[in-house]
Amino acid sequence: MPKALIIGGGVAGPAVALFLQRAGWDVEVFEARAAPDSFGGLFLNVATNGLAVLETLGLRNRLVADGHLCPYMEMRSGRGRRLGIVPNGPAGAPERGSVVVRREWLNSVLRDATDAAGIRFTWNARLDRIEESGTGVTAHFVDGTSATGDILIGCDGVGSPTRRWIDPAAPEPAYTGLLSIGGFARVDGLAPTPLTQHMVFGARGFFGYLVRDDGTVYWFANPAKPEIDRDALRALSPDTWLNELRALHADDPYPVPQILDTATGPIGAYGIYELAHVPHWHRERVVALGDAVHATSPSAGQGASLALEDAIVLARCLRDEPDHESAFARFEDLRRPRAEEVVAYSRAIGRHKSVTSSRFAVMIRDALLPLFLRGAMRDTRNNHLYEHVIPWERSHPGS
Ligand SMILES: Cc1cc2nc3c(=O)[nH]c(=O)nc-3n(C[C@H](O)[C@H](O)[C@H](O)COP(=O)(O)OP(=O)(O)OC[C@H]3O[C@@H](n4cnc5c(N)ncnc54)[C@H](O)[C@@H]3O)c2cc1C
Repeated sequence: MPKALIIGGGVAGPAVALFLQRAGWDVEVFEARAAPDSFGGLFLNVATNGLAVLETLGLRNRLVADGHLCPYMEMRSGRGRRLGIVPNGPAGAPERGSVVVRREWLNSVLRDATDAAGIRFTWNARLDRIEESGTGVTAHFVDGTSATGDILIGCDGVGSPTRRWIDPAAPEPAYTGLLSIGGFARVDGLAPTPLTQHMVFGARGFFGYLVRDDGTVYWFANPAKPEIDRDALRALSPDTWLNELRALHADDPYPVPQILDTATGPIGAYGIYELAHVPHWHRERVVALGDAVHATSPSAGQGASLALEDAIVLARCLRDEPDHESAFARFEDLRRPRAEEVVAYSRAIGRHKSVTSSRFAVMIRDALLPLFLRGAMRDTRNNHLYEHVIPWERSHPGS
């Protein structure tokens, strides 16, 4: 039985492990973190297309059980004026809309499935370097241990060492100029927002929130800031972030200031990066997928779903192609156009989040957005983003 070493136990890693095991591979997942983090990564939108991949794994219902169904996004101006509603999923099909879940819930649903399938998942295994021989590939980890397999699959995220091994000249992720800072809160009297996530073009920054049926608020802000090193971001205390955000959003409409006033627990702060075009996705016995080769800003809510799509497509290629070289090449051919389209689309949305200091520009935006958004609920031009279904069966070789 051929063996795949899978580096990274986030989204793509466990998913590709599950699919490859179905295809008859021996798989093992190696994750750099020491243990699961129940708060890490806050929450994220799993889009219709990502849910379809989870459905194929039999995991959709479990994921949705702890999710906030979000087929709609309501936009408001910094003065509280309703600018419009857009679908968060295929237009005209709210029953197939996207869902917002805690990130660790998505991670643990996938990980529980790998556990149940008997797939080895090793924590504290940080890939240090890769070594190829004519007959196999060896992953060397920072703690001095190593593992050898027939192929190595890099699911190691935006900072991917695998990407750099494939191509030492690979581009580095580009900072978008925005941070994503968020957490959880509870505001007395604030009503739940069923089926909806709210987005506010605040006076000095973009803010999003939803309220679960039990009153828990999931919130995030996107302040525009010069790039800050990841460790420095982590080192800043929740109070530092909250004080800054309270000042930034003080003039925004209810409930934005109230959410920031009642925010509790840790605050997550992340730089938003993207990789619009990575020239090489594979070399010899090594391939990379997910954020490692096409990191997208969160604006389109599609990064995790793209990673899930990559997982099923790569496993199909390894199942159906005669050898790993042709499988990797086919995988890249199938995935690159879609991934790059989504990264570009998400970047275009993100531009609207950047704050303008010109009151005139804000007035124009607030006047024009309702016109743009008026037909959004019936506009099917983006449906292909959500309706990209990839069957596991062999009968659809071109998809
Ligand atoms: C603030 C923010 C909000 C986001 N919101 C959304 C959203 O709403 N919807 C959405 O779809 N996407 C969202 N994304 C993007 C989404 O998180 C990613 O696209 C998705 O997680 C990619 O999955 P992945 O498996 O490729 O990488 P990851 O989920 O990042 O997993 C990579 C894993 O590899 C591990 N790793 C890294 N280096 C090594 C190493 N050397 N050795 C071993 N393991 C290693 C990491 O610890 C990690 O567990 C958001 C991203 C950010 C930063």
